[in-house]
Amino acid sequence: MPREYDVVIVGAGMVGASLACAIAPSGLRIAIIEAYPLKNDQQPSYDDRGITLTPSSRRILEAIGVWPQIQASVNSIKKIHVSEQGRFAFTHLDAAETEASELGYVVVARSLGQALHRQLSAYANITLVCPAELKQFDRNESDMSVEISRAGTVETIKTGLLVGADGTHSLVRRLSAINTRQRDFKQTAIVANVTTQRPNQATAYERFTTHGPVALLPIDKNRSVLVFTVNKENAERYLTLPDKQFIEHVEMEFGRRLGRIEQIGQRRSYPLLFVEALEQYQEQLVLLGNAAHTLHPNAAQGFNLALRDVAGLAECIFAAIQKGLDIDDVSILKKYIDLRHDDQQRVMHFTNRLASGFYNDFPLLVPARNMAMLMLDVLPDLKTTFIEQAMGLAGLQPRFVRG
Ligand SMILES: Cc1cc2nc3c(=O)[nH]c(=O)nc-3n(C[C@H](O)[C@H](O)[C@H](O)COP(=O)(O)OP(=O)(O)OC[C@H]3O[C@@H](n4cnc5c(N)ncnc54)[C@H](O)[C@@H]3O)c2cc1C
Repeated sequence: MPREYDVVIVGAGMVGASLACAIAPSGLRIAIIEAYPLKNDQQPSYDDRGITLTPSSRRILEAIGVWPQIQASVNSIKKIHVSEQGRFAFTHLDAAETEASELGYVVVARSLGQALHRQLSAYANITLVCPAELKQFDRNESDMSVEISRAGTVETIKTGLLVGADGTHSLVRRLSAINTRQRDFKQTAIVANVTTQRPNQATAYERFTTHGPVALLPIDKNRSVLVFTVNKENAERYLTLPDKQFIEHVEMEFGRRLGRIEQIGQRRSYPLLFVEALEQYQEQLVLLGNAAHTLHPNAAQGFNLALRDVAGLAECIFAAIQKGLDIDDVSILKKYIDLRHDDQQRVMHFTNRLASGFYNDFPLLVPARNMAMLMLDVLPDLKTTFIEQAMGLAGLQPRFVRG
């Protein structure tokens, strides 16, 4: 049976859909397999979470044609205020201190999902197989046979390259016997939209508490997305509290920097894990996004990092096509990992150290944290490095990022 596709992507979440849009102009035949109907409210990738995008992500989304479709619903972040509950130090990052006019952007995941899927449907060479689930795959001499179940029947499709963009508990990763390094943060993020008494002035707030970060991300003048992290064992209690009592808890932790919280939307919860795949590629197979690395959301880096991986992989695929090479050749995948390794490691260390440094009341760490925040605020070079890291512009970046 001949190959129907050059690339099969499992998962049309933010990362799988971005990769399909990024490589579609090459003319490759692409199939994208997604378990949930895209308009379904249960689609896990596209809920009401506010996703913070870095300037590097903006450049990539511009390059793949998605930015113009979300631009109207995106809110800029001009300032970031980081503080720690009960401590004197805080740090303030301001776009005015950088060459950029914005430090980042916030978009609601659902809007991003709609834009990505509109863009997918604009390409005749992308086939969306949905709802359908990957069940198995077999590596033959030169192809991958991918078994999927759709509407109660099992079908087999053939591809050159299989991309696992199927999330934290990736079946592609498990079927490939790829081991992981994992850490359960024993925390749950509770996310809800809130309306505050005072306007947020395009400021993102992050406040570290002993049970995790509390963040408010601006989505409109007086509206922000609240990310309230709690110890896992208390999550159910916080989720079932009446709104008024839940708001009282949030105000106790966050203070009244934006006045009172006047309204709160539906609360959703996310258990927090760190998962790192110990291999990200094998012959004819590569992992992307949460399947490759799931991060703590404390620094809002998960999707931003994955999008730079998407740009890196797309760059390697385009280069291979230009040289007349097979895109599923293992040397292309190795080149991709060589390109992306340092950025991935830097971001994983950064988010994990942030997690260990702040949720730990070990007496020596407290003054060190205060000092780190003060240093950040008074040493311009250190602050510039920190801002570059947070904006996704540190180190060598793929061409889509460099423009
Ligand atoms: C509370 C919270 C806040 C966050 N905030 C930010 C932020 O501000 N900025 C940021 O950069 N990142 C943020 N992140 C991280 C971001 O959400 C992830 O990086 C991103 O969702 C990863 O997308 P993905 O496509 O890899 O995985 P997923 O979103 O999990 O998508 C995987 C897709 O694969 C499909 N799938 C799974 N198995 C199969 C199968 N067998 N067959 C077919 N389809 C399958 C699923 O249905 C799903 O659609 C946050 C995360 C959390 C939890």
